[in-house]
Amino acid sequence: MKSPADMKVIQIELTNACPRKCANCTRFCGHHEEPFFMDFETFKKAVDSLKGFRGIVGIMGGEPTIHPEFKKFMEYYRDNVGYDDYSTACYEPQKDFMRHILADAWHVDYSNHRGLWTSVTPRYYEHFELIQDTFGYQLLNDHSNPSMHQTLMVTRQELGVPDDEWVKMRDRCWVQNLWSASITPKGAFFCEVAAAMDATLGGPGGWPIEPGWWKRKPSEFGDQLKWCEMCSACLAMPSRDANDETDDVSPVWAKKLEEIRSPKVQKGLVNEFDPVAYQADKHSINQKVTPYIENQDERMGKTRGRLVPQKTTHVVWLTGRLSTAEAQTLLHEAKAAKQLDAVVSQDAAQRAVAEEAGVPFFTGPDALAELAKATRTKDWVLLIQDIKVPVTVAELIGNCVFNPGVVYWRNLQGGKLQFFNVRALSLAKGADLFCIETNYPARKTVELKAQKPEDYGLSKAEMFVRRLYKRFHWLKRALLGQPVSRGPIGELRSNRIQNSL
Ligand code: SF4
Ligand code: SF4
Repeated sequence: MKSPADMKVIQIELTNACPRKCANCTRFCGHHEEPFFMDFETFKKAVDSLKGFRGIVGIMGGEPTIHPEFKKFMEYYRDNVGYDDYSTACYEPQKDFMRHILADAWHVDYSNHRGLWTSVTPRYYEHFELIQDTFGYQLLNDHSNPSMHQTLMVTRQELGVPDDEWVKMRDRCWVQNLWSASITPKGAFFCEVAAAMDATLGGPGGWPIEPGWWKRKPSEFGDQLKWCEMCSACLAMPSRDANDETDDVSPVWAKKLEEIRSPKVQKGLVNEFDPVAYQADKHSINQKVTPYIENQDERMGKTRGRLVPQKTTHVVWLTGRLSTAEAQTLLHEAKAAKQLDAVVSQDAAQRAVAEEAGVPFFTGPDALAELAKATRTKDWVLLIQDIKVPVTVAELIGNCVFNPGVVYWRNLQGGKLQFFNVRALSLAKGADLFCIETNYPARKTVELKAQKPEDYGLSKAEMFVRRLYKRFHWLKRALLGQPVSRGPIGELRSNRIQNSL
């Protein structure tokens, strides 16, 4: 086993609620009559307790983004964990968002100490800008593609594993060696699965969340190791596709789940695992960090569409360059193409042509607020001067992931186009629609240079280059004496299962 101090990640679990009910979930989601939601004081204590830890302070659930105070928690987290590093943040459009994420996720030891574990719920999209600004490492898995989850809810005693063999197997448990220690509202734990069992089965709680708790050595894990007796992670066990939603549970576990009135049991989403029929030689003991999925690109399936702009308000900006007849023709054609929801202009005299086209007109310093209210815009605005939306731009918008915190722009023959989201943090205090870009920091003002969605994809070679870039970036920071995560030392230690208890 590993001391948490030697782990790549220590998790803070914001909640054990999750909209999904994956089979054999390591958080036992779906079995809690009342899931927990960590309170802010505990969160602050958890963050403060990890001062000095050189790995990633992970934010995990359940699904952490559904915590009602996620934004407030993240503000404290950003102020107290790691550092802002926008060098590879998702500001450019992405044809394949998962590849963008994977290009960073190779670099757990080179990140900014901040990591997020999420199944990409609608709340992930809601917090998209904040998440990209905050986390140098994200582990996404929406579990919509096959994802094989190992059976966990079987005790070694039911399988008849003798004591001497058991201790060796437990000591080499892949979860404890390759994954994380964690903090729940009930305390700090040497292993995230032990923490989840404690929360699910009403255990005694963990160690006090105090500075340096994570420096404990395996020989100091004490009573927490009793949780291993309940857990089959370190044994050779069958796995099941997460999408089945059915958990494999031994008779001992079935009884315990009955006692806690598990909602999953009540819905019949459990399969009784028969220890007598168990054949260890039919399975193997896992040694990999991500045994559950082969093709990492498949971590995102159905949810990808959720991140592509779903609803765009099309706004034509009449600058006065067009004659009345030209403006009338433009609005007529835009309307026919379903690309006209409103007209704006700094010249109030343009109102007549908008009214003639049957769309609302806005002018003056409050144009954006009035437009958003009248058109019920809650998401994207495509603001285009004096011309129709080019086909190439419509293609990009329909096929790429855009960051709602960024204003995208392109100069076109006869006008300019700007694409932005009314939820951008840069617009939170209101903004003048006619100089929208001035509200954003430079890194969030992005020219749409490419023509085709494919141009915003990442090939394997480009992902490799990003990997190299991350290392150079890390080295540069280290040479400048700036804070860095473990880097090469962590990398050397990665994926090594220790036998140290
Ligand atoms: S998405 Fe993750 S936390 Fe949610 S049920 Fe599935 S495995 Fe568990
Ligand atoms: S056996 Fe279970 S509780 Fe024990 S270290 Fe492994 S995953 Fe954690």
